[in-house]
Amino acid sequence: MRLALLVYHPAMRNCRAVIHLQNLHSNLASIRTASGGRVRLCLMVKADGYGHGAVGIAQAAVKMGIDCFGVVTAGEALELRAAGITAQVLLLGLAAPRECIDMVKYGISAVVADEDLIRGYAAAAKAAGAVARLHLKIDTGMGTIGCTPERAPVLARLIAGTPGLSLEGICSHFPVADDADTAYTDEQIRRFSRCIGEIRKAGISPGTVHLANSAAHQRFPESWFDMVRLGIAAYGYPGAPERDPPLLLKPVMEVRAPVSFIKRVPAGTALSYGHTFTTGRSTIIATVSAGYADGYRRGLSNRGRVLINGTTYPVVGTICMDKFLADLGPDSDVKQYDEVTLFGPDRSGPDAAELASILHTIPYEITCGINTRVPRTYVD
Ligand SMILES: *Cc1c(COP(=O)(O)O)cnc(C)c1O
Repeated sequence: MRLALLVYHPAMRNCRAVIHLQNLHSNLASIRTASGGRVRLCLMVKADGYGHGAVGIAQAAVKMGIDCFGVVTAGEALELRAAGITAQVLLLGLAAPRECIDMVKYGISAVVADEDLIRGYAAAAKAAGAVARLHLKIDTGMGTIGCTPERAPVLARLIAGTPGLSLEGICSHFPVADDADTAYTDEQIRRFSRCIGEIRKAGISPGTVHLANSAAHQRFPESWFDMVRLGIAAYGYPGAPERDPPLLLKPVMEVRAPVSFIKRVPAGTALSYGHTFTTGRSTIIATVSAGYADGYRRGLSNRGRVLINGTTYPVVGTICMDKFLADLGPDSDVKQYDEVTLFGPDRSGPDAAELASILHTIPYEITCGINTRVPRTYVD
């Protein structure tokens, strides 16, 4: 009995994320068309695939022809291998020294930015009897991780000349590729190109050269080099204000929850924690089975809107941990157990960009913020 309950439980969950794989497919196709099929695509699946489920996304994306996946922690890399993903996995974060051995053993390509970690990988390669495939990260202006451009040729030579190590790539990252002012990004591209040139001049092959994220892919074709690393655009949101003509991107994640309770209340009824909302008229109030613990943020209290059966309704009162209220108005045929879309690809309702704008954040934080207790369902 207990086991049956455990197995049954996930299907009983109130709030769920529907992952529309046909939208992922269509976004990847638009992205490929925009770059004329010229560059390789590394699909970023860090942070559990921006909340969409790294394994589910990677398994689907392999069938769509994606052959490189980007992650940031060693655990994320191993999760893909454990799920049977044999495609290239690129660790864009710096491994801890003790993690190098597993990266080598499981054939993970990994970023390095200093001599210590390069030596750590050399030792791991020796111990594992395998080659460590390294990508040298240069800081051309992001200011988080990376060696200086001056140091890059020295480290590239160290990697290329150390037994057990292979210089598989050189990369850098953009901080402001989405900015209206392109001067800084233009300069970064020049700095990066100069650096690659110097490495080549020193007789070292840089391997796969990659720099662009979604925003740069959209706006700076000269930043594409051999490969682009895309996250947000693949999940359906532009990395920067749309260029002309816009990429046709469709949100991949839809978050749904059922109406659990319906009641009519008179004018002057105060609702939910803090009584931050009082009805101005007799109205029908729906209780929706999702809350901030699912990732439907409390900042949306009295500000968000939801889509039910093709119509949008305002969120009223304070969002609770597991539920919130929507005002259906004086006449409504919404019924108990009808499904509510919190955000998603349907153009008649809100998407993650709308929620992000209300919350003064970015769509990334909305999709990443959908909690692990929300089951992901993949639909073709
Ligand atoms: C997350 C990430 C990207 C992708 O960024 P998007 O804006 O989602 O396209 C690219 N490169 C690195 C190093 C990243 O960490």
